[in-house]
Amino acid sequence: MSDHPPARRGRGRPPTLTGPRLQELLDHLADGLTIQQAATATGIARATVYNTRAHDPAAADAITTALAAGKAKRTAARHGTEGCYTRHGCRRPECTAAATAARTTRRTAGTDTVLPTPVTAAALPAPTGRTTLVLLDLHTTAPLAQAG
Ligand SMILES: [Zn+2]
Repeated sequence: MSDHPPARRGRGRPPTLTGPRLQELLDHLADGLTIQQAATATGIARATVYNTRAHDPAAADAITTALAAGKAKRTAARHGTEGCYTRHGCRRPECTAAATAARTTRRTAGTDTVLPTPVTAAALPAPTGRTTLVLLDLHTTAPLAQAG
């Protein structure tokens, strides 16, 4: 028989953030960092951020607000780029224009995707009576739609 209370899982209450450290975290989050990045920059564990959100309602609200501000900042910084158009499916005028301009630049420079020259029978070695092994690179073979 023992008088000891049941063993606790942890050593006391998990740490939460307050004061300047909380403010530093909020600044990083509002700047667009992820929770992991902001925690690392503040010098705390990511779990501390979650503990703070779980145990301190006022801090949780501030963190949520800072996260929203950070997301808005990241999104705003993204607009006007080709990646916003292609990767995020954004069709804002500035993103459509950026994608169009980038595509035009590539085509002018000749670096955009261009269909390869089809391999024709005339280009193949003439039959010699011997067994000829012809290797066709699939990437240089004309698409079926153009055969005919
Ligand atoms: Zn966009």
